[in-house]
Formats: sequence, C-alpha cells, structure tokens
Amino acid sequence: SLRDPSKSAAATITVANFKGGVSKTTTAAALAQGLSLQGHRVLVIDTDPQGSLTTLFGVLPDTEVEADQTILALCSGEESSIMPAVRSTYWDGIDLVAAAPVLFNAEFLLPARQKAEKDFAFWRVLDAGLEEARRTYDVIIIDTPPSLSYITINALIAADGIVMPLPPNALDFASSTQFWTLFTEVCSQLFRTRGDNKKFSFVDIVLSRVDRADAVSVDVREWIVAAYGSKVLSIEIPKTSIAATASAGFGTVYDMDANSAQAKTLKRARDAYDQLVGHVSMQIAAIYEG
Ligand code: ADP
Ligand code: MG
Repeated sequence: SLRDPSKSAAATITVANFKGGVSKTTTAAALAQGLSLQGHRVLVIDTDPQGSLTTLFGVLPDTEVEADQTILALCSGEESSIMPAVRSTYWDGIDLVAAAPVLFNAEFLLPARQKAEKDFAFWRVLDAGLEEARRTYDVIIIDTPPSLSYITINALIAADGIVMPLPPNALDFASSTQFWTLFTEVCSQLFRTRGDNKKFSFVDIVLSRVDRADAVSVDVREWIVAAYGSKVLSIEIPKTSIAATASAGFGTVYDMDANSAQAKTLKRARDAYDQLVGHVSMQIAAIYEG
C-alpha cells in the first residue's frame, strides 16, 4: 500500500460538475483504475441515481442494486457507515458502492431529516459515513450527479480534493462557473451559523473531450484559464471514439487491449489519463502528508 495506515487516512476525491455529458463518470472510472494500477486500494462511490459508474463496473442499477447497497441507507439514517453497502468488482483492488434510481429518494429524506432532527447536518451525512472506509482504503473516488443536489453537496463536502472535467466550449464553461458560484454560496449559508467549515486540499480542472480540430475551443480555453487560473491543469483528455468504445464494453481505456485495431487512438487517450492519474497521485501523496 502507498499509504501508511498509522499516519494517514484515505484521500477522498470527488469528480463533479453541474452538467451531464462532460466526462465525469468516465474520468471517475479511469482515475479509479489508474490509481489501482499504481497500487492504491480504491473504493468508488456512485452517488448519481442514474448509476452510470455502477454500470461501468459491470453492475446493473435497475436489477442488481438494492436500496441498502447504495448511500441511501446513510441518508435515511438506517446506517451510520458506508461499509455495509460495499461490494467487490471484477477489477481486483477496486470496491464499489453502487447507485440505483431509488437513490433519488435522498433528495426528500435529507431535507425532511433536517427539519425533524435537532443538530442534524444534511451536508455531512456521507462525510461521517466514510470514517471506517477511510481506514480501510487508500483512495475513495466519488462520482456525482449532474446537479447541485443534496447528494452532490454531500459528495463535495466529503472530499479532500475535487476534479472537475470541463469540455472547452462556451456553454459548458458558463455552467461550470455557475456551479462554483452556487456551491460557494450554499456552503457559506450552511456554515454561517454552524461553526462548520470546509477547505479543499486541491481543486483541479481538467479539460475533457478536447477536439483539437475545433478552432473555437482555443478561445474558450483562454477564458477558462482566465477564470480559474492555476486550477486548470495542462492535461487535456482528447475527444475520441475510443472512450465510447470502452464504455460500450462497460469499461475504460484501462480495460482495453493495447494491441487492438485502434491502438494508436487508444494510446493517445490512455497517455492523457496516465498524466491525470500521475498528477492526482501527487495530490494524494500531499494529502497523506497533511
Ligand atoms: P458525465 O458523467 O459527465 O455525464 P460521461 O463520462 O458519462 O459524462 O460521458 C458522457 C458520454 O460521452 C459517454 O457516452 C462517454 O462514453 C462519452 N465520452 C466520455 N469521455 C469522452 C471522450 N474523451 N471522448 C469522446 N467521448 C467521450
Ligand atoms: Mg455521470
């Protein structure tokens, strides 16, 4: 293990953005597999009721996931630890907390509990439920729904670091800045009266689905850097059919045969993810060191 359990807990990384289709789930799965290949013991948590990450790990959200095998048991208060919801996956060294459509009930349960229970903090439910997992795993990767829902707020508050995939086009850029503005406002409202606070070790923005042939995206890339500054990584995940091919086969670029017919495209995509994994590994090492 790359973590000294006597000195530090697991690093928790949440992959988030307001929008759907920006590569959150693909990035979460590739990060999990890449970090696992480096020797980390990884727990992936799918918090999107659509269950795309669950599907990528070979589990069918509609038929193979019970409510208590998702984070719903934490949200309802039936469980105080995530561990009973954990299952193993086909990938050695990666365990999964799955998602299913039933998880959408969290959007009603959490505000109801907030009203009914004294001293309840709806935004800390997932964070509190990870205590045992942080001792068991080296890295926890959380995939999120494309909204600023109660679930997403929990996933962000539970994180040490955030990875935000962002395709370099004008609409995705605009909604990403709305996302940060809203999230920051929500946090300051929640914490104002609570003596609670949240600091991230890192917030990294990775340009995703980058189409080199698209001249427009050159300008947008400059806006993104102007808005987010040094948070924007120099790593670019190329837009390539190989990502779609991999997800059609329920996997990522790390599942694919390097000698396949699309070897060249695959190498380009995998090189980009390798860079991202390398960068995130360094962030994780810094979190271990405190
Ligand atoms: P999100 O989780 O943000 O909704 P996904 O990771 O599910 O996004 O990706 C949305 C779709 O785009 C999927 O069909 C996926 O296979 C495809 N996709 C993801 N990354 C890439 C990429 N780099 N190039 C081309 N297609 C991609
Ligand atoms: Mg997704």
